Amino acid sequence: MQKVFKVMKKPWLLASLVFLMIAWIVWNIPIEKRKYGLSQHNLLTDYTGLLPERVERVIKAEAVTDLQKLVKDAIVNGRQISVAGLQHSQGGHTYYKDGVVLDMRTFNKVLAFDPMTKTIRVEAGATWEDVQEVINSHGLALKVTQSQSIFTIGGSLSVNAHGRDIRFGSMAGTIKEMTLLTPTGEIKTVNRDDQEDWMKYVFGGFGLFGVILDVTLELTDNDVYLIQTEQLSLQDYEAYFMSLLANKETAMHYARVSVAPKTFLEEMYVINYDYTGKKDDVTPLKEEDGARLSKLALDLGRQGGKLEDLFWEIQKKYIDSIDGRTMTRNNVMRSESTFMEFTKPSRVEVLQEFFVPIDSYEEYMNDLKQLLSANDKDEDFKVHNITVRYAAKDDGTHLNYAKEDMFGLVILIQHGLKENEVADAETIIQKWTDLTLQHGGTYYLPYYRYQSRDQFMRAYPQWEQFKKEKESRDPNEVFQNLFYDHYIK
Ligand SMILES: Cc1cc2nc3c(=O)[nH]c(=O)nc-3n(C[C@H](O)[C@H](O)[C@H](O)COP(=O)(O)OP(=O)(O)OC[C@H]3O[C@@H](n4cnc5c(N)ncnc54)[C@H](O)[C@@H]3O)c2cc1C
Repeated sequence: MQKVFKVMKKPWLLASLVFLMIAWIVWNIPIEKRKYGLSQHNLLTDYTGLLPERVERVIKAEAVTDLQKLVKDAIVNGRQISVAGLQHSQGGHTYYKDGVVLDMRTFNKVLAFDPMTKTIRVEAGATWEDVQEVINSHGLALKVTQSQSIFTIGGSLSVNAHGRDIRFGSMAGTIKEMTLLTPTGEIKTVNRDDQEDWMKYVFGGFGLFGVILDVTLELTDNDVYLIQTEQLSLQDYEAYFMSLLANKETAMHYARVSVAPKTFLEEMYVINYDYTGKKDDVTPLKEEDGARLSKLALDLGRQGGKLEDLFWEIQKKYIDSIDGRTMTRNNVMRSESTFMEFTKPSRVEVLQEFFVPIDSYEEYMNDLKQLLSANDKDEDFKVHNITVRYAAKDDGTHLNYAKEDMFGLVILIQHGLKENEVADAETIIQKWTDLTLQHGGTYYLPYYRYQSRDQFMRAYPQWEQFKKEKESRDPNEVFQNLFYDHYIK
């Protein structure tokens, strides 16, 4: 009691304590998450909430026999099914008007794991995290994932996702075997030698060729990497990356381009994960860390202008500070995601990704400078972030975005939700897409549908064959979604 009185006699001490207490409370308020999925009146949306649509119902996937019956009943009753994982796709890829949505997240068991052959068979509703939790203590890791491990495996394969790995090629190429529930209700187990090429259409097939029930994934060692970071100017990046690829010292890599007014599309930094020769089976999987701090920094950048310059400087300092640290492969594949949450009413944040052939990068970025405004502080359409990743030439999927070795530019964009604001965003993104096509590039299909149908067809001339295959493998049009309806049907 005496101690309390002593504190009360020192007002500065009391004020500091109160300040610390308030800071602690604010720090620990959970970050508000986006609301998506099923809402009232059976309206469903995906991650951006941009395309609400009425669905008949959502069914949780549980037993294979039930799923098979669902497909057979749909054929008889003329009903449509869409398949959903975590629903982080952003263009209505997981639902269809008045259709049934199959929620795969409950279909997530590990069926077999063999550390000797470095393979794991897992149901497709499992996330990369679910797999990491089983394999980490065996010193094993995944070959190709997105930068984050929150996504379902079925959803990731159906968009043929890519991430930071630069050695193992496309995600589809890391699958040894797949069990598929076909659109005619058959259960098929197929591997890479399948004469009917199911994998080619199912992977990167946006849930239109049946339900991936389970897959056998190839694993690799959980290597320990040395983080090596560097600042570069934009015109040095092509040559820098080609020598990185040739040197074989780096396993994983990504880069970030400045979108801050002072250094707009001029400065870059790179983050490499270099082999150390060490493997790890003891380091625990990292949990989300410092989300509030990262969100605070990103919120600063979101203001644009000088604050965006400051945000870029902070990022560079942070990147410098991690140079020389080590990290396991599994942990590189578990990048934080909560700090990206954005819930401001009447505005939205979306992702877009453009792919350009590696040797077109510099010219492309110079042209892009003419298209975008360096300081978007007072504009509705804001670019917050451009990350560059490598997407190796992919022959394993039909609707492939990497027809040759490409750089993928992942863009975080914010714009308003009024009709004219969405229309403006569409105009800018369509111009951006035209520019990308002029440079021999493509764009990523799981995101919101700003691109016109004509642009889709130019970017993916193989769409016609895709459609023919869809019609012949799914003659009753059981598997449908808004993406297919909008661009291909
Ligand atoms: C914050 C954020 C970060 C991202 N980072 C990356 C990244 O680093 N690299 C990258 O490549 N992409 C990235 N993406 C895109 C992401 O990889 C895709 O949206 C992916 O589809 C997400 O998986 P999901 O479980 O949410 O799939 P969903 O969005 O639920 O589904 C995607 C597609 O797969 C189909 N599908 C789902 N499960 C099955 C199944 N079992 N059988 C058949 N079809 C199925 C669906 O019908 C749909 O067409 C990111 C997206 C967000 C929002």
